[in-house]
Amino acid sequence: PDLSDHPLMKHLNAPQREAVCHAHGPLLILAGAGSGKTTVITRRIAWLIEEEGVHPGSILAMTFTNKAAEEMRDRVQRLVSVPLEQLWVSTFHSFCTRILRREGDRTPVGRDFVIFDPSDQKSLMKQVLAELHLPEKQFHPRKVLEVISDFKNRCLLPEEAREEALDPWTRKVLEAYDLYQKGLRSHRACDFDDLLLYTERLFREPALQTAYGDRFKFILVDEYQDTNRAQYLLVQHLARRHHNLCVVGDEDQSIYGWRGADIRNILDFQRDFPEAVQIKLEQNYRSTQRILDAASSVIANNSQRLGKTLWSDLGHGESIVFKLTDEGRLEAEWVVQRILELRATDAEAKVAVLYRANWQSRQLEEALRARNLPYRLVGGVKFYERQEVKDLISYLRLVSNPFDLVSFRRCVNAPSRGVGPTTLAKIEGAIPEGGTALEGLADLLRRGELKGRAQREMGRFLELFRRAAGEREAQGLAGLVRWVLQESGYLQSLEDEGTLEAEGRIRNLEEFLSAAAEAESLGVRLSEFLDRITLAADADQVEESAHLSLMTIHCAKGLEFPYVFVVGMEEDVFPNRNARETPEGLEEERRLFYVAITRAQRRLTLTAARRRRIMGTEMLGMPSRFLREIPAEALQAPIRWGTELYQAGEGVRPGSSFTRGAGGASVATELQRIRGFFDRVRAQAEEPADPSGHRDEQPEPEPESRPAAGAWPGGTRVRSPRFGRGIIVASSGSGDGLTYTVRFAEAGEKRIVARFGMLEKE
Ligand code: ATP
Ligand code: MG
Repeated sequence: PDLSDHPLMKHLNAPQREAVCHAHGPLLILAGAGSGKTTVITRRIAWLIEEEGVHPGSILAMTFTNKAAEEMRDRVQRLVSVPLEQLWVSTFHSFCTRILRREGDRTPVGRDFVIFDPSDQKSLMKQVLAELHLPEKQFHPRKVLEVISDFKNRCLLPEEAREEALDPWTRKVLEAYDLYQKGLRSHRACDFDDLLLYTERLFREPALQTAYGDRFKFILVDEYQDTNRAQYLLVQHLARRHHNLCVVGDEDQSIYGWRGADIRNILDFQRDFPEAVQIKLEQNYRSTQRILDAASSVIANNSQRLGKTLWSDLGHGESIVFKLTDEGRLEAEWVVQRILELRATDAEAKVAVLYRANWQSRQLEEALRARNLPYRLVGGVKFYERQEVKDLISYLRLVSNPFDLVSFRRCVNAPSRGVGPTTLAKIEGAIPEGGTALEGLADLLRRGELKGRAQREMGRFLELFRRAAGEREAQGLAGLVRWVLQESGYLQSLEDEGTLEAEGRIRNLEEFLSAAAEAESLGVRLSEFLDRITLAADADQVEESAHLSLMTIHCAKGLEFPYVFVVGMEEDVFPNRNARETPEGLEEERRLFYVAITRAQRRLTLTAARRRRIMGTEMLGMPSRFLREIPAEALQAPIRWGTELYQAGEGVRPGSSFTRGAGGASVATELQRIRGFFDRVRAQAEEPADPSGHRDEQPEPEPESRPAAGAWPGGTRVRSPRFGRGIIVASSGSGDGLTYTVRFAEAGEKRIVARFGMLEKE
């Protein structure tokens, strides 16, 4: 029957309609980005309820994020007339939690279990390691937890993982796994992975499998390509009874391999359910043809795929813009400038700026803040609020002001130095009248009141701050930051940890170091630098906006925006420097780029920087190999990187610079290095001379002695959103480094960086 007039079929094309009203049996919708997979799931739920008379409580829909689940529920509710309280739309984790709260009596933790978060997990693991006499240096708690998580995602309990433990290290980890599970049990606790693991175990029992199999008559799973083994088995158990399983996915968007997602789950669906109906969706309703052309030709370079076509009738649309800027800061500023222009014509325009890794948000956040443009950081923490960044800042604060007890408390045990509450209380008790915690500590050490590890580590800690002043003089701001990172052992402890998470933290610290180098090149000193950060971290200063979202590409999965920027299109940034070492890693990066491109509805802009500070040192970037994979016709102008044409079929060829293996430097790399050197020399020659002097080693002039051009004179009455009314008493620096000393009526004297402080003349 022709259902195209049915209200639930409104606007849908024929294969979409077929999927929506598909009656019984397994259904696989394998289709490219933006072809309406999620739309079909939503409509199908509504159809089942309204047309098939299925009770909402018999339908189970699984999505990837809580936000997606919420949205799906809302959308279905708008389509149906009955209330939906009983409809199960959730993520795997929240589904499992619900099941365990009901059926948990059959698991070792009961139904009133608590859920351990990563820090609870870590402290339990530390106990376990101590009990097994495993040194944390070789068995870093987080690293061990990562391995355990991997076992759990593959549904392997300790005794079942034995076959995989071929080396002594992994065998020890298994012992730890065993003891860790016992520990969790004695706390009546689950970690996140246990939620899945236990639920999957429960459903292996025939009685429960039948009970829940009967209950959930229809199961729908979005983003099926990103399910891991445990999730896969869970779905299989539930669907075994009735086979009414509808999965949608796109193998080209599988981007969670690093977390145990198995692309084979979707590729093998037909094997699992030979009677499965497969529906292809080929029309994309999201993006213009040019954007799709770019996406298709990029992903065509992958070998692990089924291959599919996508077309759009939204017209060719705008050409894709590629912008190469000279350096990272200019890249961020360029993007912000374009957003401002957009706002001028379309105040409500929804914009997303996407990046490969979290550290990349720093310069964007700063550029946005400088222009006072509200934004939302989706699925992440603002740069200066990240734990490792705050830890490092606490060291710098303490260097700058030894009386800062809050910072002392923070950094004294980061990284862990075995300082418990008792030792800390002892130290604080020893602070002399009007003195500092460091003095108190020195006193304790002199009297030999600390013992063993604490004594050793605290001795080193104190030494760090004794030497810091000298290092600050000798090395300047960036040098000091680098020195603190190394001498504090902070970097080392993250390196020892060796987890993916630790790697992300290291990248953030490296980026912090780059921020310090950037500030130093503008003549900023430590205390000003810290002031800037305090202001940047002040959440009240910039309101949030749903119209401008910053996020990693992983977070952008399933979403769409009229305007999309993808920044950092350089080798080692995107593709990420570790990923490209294996062919699989590289293919996953390419899928990630495919996801990024296909978020764009109307306009896609790609940007890169020729030079970028990595670990505070300026490096010459190489163009991302993905740029070459974009067809010339889709681009506004041919991509040039310096003098080189960088585009499919032209210019640089595979086998030259960008396909070199990891490690061995090729001639091309060598050339690149030399070119980088000349670029740096040239850049330095071009940099305008800074009249205020550059380096920390010069004596700091009195602020009044160098009033900056264009600055408000002393005596100007100003207003700050944070501190209220005040009067300028002095100014120093110029341009981005322009800093005022302001005497506020309430808050007293503060140094305010003009660029961040949002001072207004009264
Ligand atoms: P992704 O692969 O990114 O998850 P998807 O396949 O789930 O994408 P949807 O998000 O469901 O795609 O749909 C993409 C866009 O196309 C949405 O804005 C949706 O409303 C719209 N859309 C889907 N089907 C149609 C249709 N038949 N007519 C008009 N618009 C449609
Ligand atoms: Mg979707």
